[in-house]
Amino acid sequence: MNAAPKTLRHLSDLSDAGLIDADKRQALEQVAARYAVAITPAVAALIDAADPQDPIARQFVPDPAELDVRPEENADPIGDHPHSPVAGIVHRYPDRVLLKLTAVCAVYCRFCFRREMVGPAAEPLTPRELDAALGYIAAHPEIWEVVLTGGDPLLLSPRRLKQVVSQLAAIGHVKVIRVHTRIPVAEPSRITSELVRTLRVKGKATYVVLHANHARELTAAAREACARLIDGGIPMLSQSVLLAGVNDDAQSLGSLMRALVECRIKPYYLHHADLAPGTAHFRTSIEHGQELMRQLRGRLSGLCQPTYVLDIPGGHGKSPIGPDYLSRSTDGRFEVEDYNGAQHIYQSNSDQAAHVPDVVLRKRSAAVQR
Ligand code: SF4
Repeated sequence: MNAAPKTLRHLSDLSDAGLIDADKRQALEQVAARYAVAITPAVAALIDAADPQDPIARQFVPDPAELDVRPEENADPIGDHPHSPVAGIVHRYPDRVLLKLTAVCAVYCRFCFRREMVGPAAEPLTPRELDAALGYIAAHPEIWEVVLTGGDPLLLSPRRLKQVVSQLAAIGHVKVIRVHTRIPVAEPSRITSELVRTLRVKGKATYVVLHANHARELTAAAREACARLIDGGIPMLSQSVLLAGVNDDAQSLGSLMRALVECRIKPYYLHHADLAPGTAHFRTSIEHGQELMRQLRGRLSGLCQPTYVLDIPGGHGKSPIGPDYLSRSTDGRFEVEDYNGAQHIYQSNSDQAAHVPDVVLRKRSAAVQR
C-alpha cells in the first residue's frame, strides 16, 4: 500500500518531487533557512514541474530571487507592530481588529506580507495572551468586527476554534467574525461539517475570505470545500494578490475572478503586492495593476470586479488605487470614461439646466407630470 502523500517541507522533498534544480540548491538553502517552506499534497498536485513558468509553482516553490532584498522593503510592510496594543491583536481601524491566533500556515506563500512573522518556528499565542487579546476586544465597545487571521486560523482544531468563537460570541458589541484563510485551496479536506458548524454562531455573522491567486487553485475539491461553507450558511469573499508571473495578465486575472464567482465567492480585494523582503520579483507597477483593472471592467460582469488596494507602508491602512473614471472638464462639469475608454460629459448641478444631459431632463419631466 502506498503511503499518503505528505506536505513538502524540506528542500530534499522538493528535489525528490522534481520541483527544484540541483544548481539552485545552495542559494535555496539560504532562502529556506530564513523563510518557511510548505507545499501541501493538494497544492503539489497542481504544479506542472515541467513548466518553468508554472503559476502555482511560482507562488510556493522557493526561489533564489528571495535573497534580493531591496532598501524599500520592510519586515513589517503593512505596519502591524505599531498597531498591536497586546499580543495577537492589530487595531488599525476604529471598528475592527485582527486577532492573530496562530503563526502557522498549511502552505507558505513566497510573497507573504507576514513572511518574517509566520512559520513553524514562530511562537503561537499562549492561553494567557489569548485571554488578554479577548479582554482587549471586550473592553473596546467600538470593535464591531473581529478578523481571525495569522497564520491560518483554520489550521486550529475545531475544538480550539470553538473556544475562541464562543468567547467572541459572548462579547455583545462584536457582530461580525471574519476568517481569512487559504485552507479550502491548500487542504480542502479540513473543511468538514464540524468545522462549518464551529464557525457559525447564533447572533453573529461569520464570513470566510479565501486567499486564491490563480483559477487553477479552484480545483473540484476546493470548490466542494467552499460549497460546504456556503451551504452551511457562511458567505464567502476572496482576496487575491496581484503577482507578476502568476496573474498579472487580463486573461489569468479574469479567469480567476470568474472562477471565484462561479463558486459563489464574491471577489473582494485585489492587493498590490506588499513590500515584504525578497519579493521584488512578484511586484508589478501600480500602472500595470490599474490597466488590468480597466480591462476587467470592460470584459467581465460587475460581480467579478474586486477593489484594487494598496496597504500603505507604515500601518496607515488600505486605500483603493484602481483607475479613476471621473474627472473635471475645463468648464467645471464632469467627464466620465466608459468601459471602452470613451469620454462623456456628465452634468451633476441641477440648477444649470442648459448643461443637464437629456436623460436627466426626461426623468425630471416625468417626475413633474406624476
Ligand atoms: S497563507 Fe497567508 S499568512 Fe500564510 S504564508 Fe500565505 S499569505 Fe502568508
